[in-house]
Amino acid sequence: MRLILLGPPGAGKGTQASRISHDLGIPQLSTGDMLRAAIASGVQIGQKVSSIMARGELVPDDIVVQIIADRIIKPDCAKGFILDGFPRTTAQAETLNTMLEDKELSLDVVIQLSVDENALVDRILRRAQESLTKGDAVRPDDNPEVFKKRLDAYSVQTMPLIEFYQKTGQLRVVDGMKSIDEVSQEISDIIASLS
Ligand code: AMP
Repeated sequence: MRLILLGPPGAGKGTQASRISHDLGIPQLSTGDMLRAAIASGVQIGQKVSSIMARGELVPDDIVVQIIADRIIKPDCAKGFILDGFPRTTAQAETLNTMLEDKELSLDVVIQLSVDENALVDRILRRAQESLTKGDAVRPDDNPEVFKKRLDAYSVQTMPLIEFYQKTGQLRVVDGMKSIDEVSQEISDIIASLS
């Protein structure tokens, strides 16, 4: 099963991807997590992207494409994977298609988590508060100002992917404003309907 979770920041992609990963035994590939890991480990790519991420902008396509290209050839991706936060631009989606075609693979489904954008700022502030309560570090881009920039990046650069995947017939839409369990159930139903 190879699937994409699509939706704005704060829509719950990470939470849902982690549940699907657990249920299906396939890895969750979050480009955001991989980039944050690169920053934390001090490698050159991390140094390149940290200020871009802190501003809430998208990092260049070639960087994330290379990260994904290197990751999907790992043995744990043989049975499939969940893409969480990738692709985010039409160029990334096109490159992903080419990458998969070269391996004679294809995407099974693209699930869009549809959410009310006005509720997202509240969600992100709650996420920051929860991290603080747990004693975890708060993401530097989880503050209202940068978050708005991330939403803008989503609207301008990522939203065109909805039409892109509508045209390929791979898009399914789930109401991301429902409870976490309800959203998980809807996603499971979609996945079950594919097999
Ligand atoms: P996320 O954890 O998915 O919210 O991503 C955090 C940040 O990482 C984003 O605001 C971007 O700066 C960067 N990022 C993650 N995935 C991508 C991607 N596919 N393309 C470009 N930038 C990305």
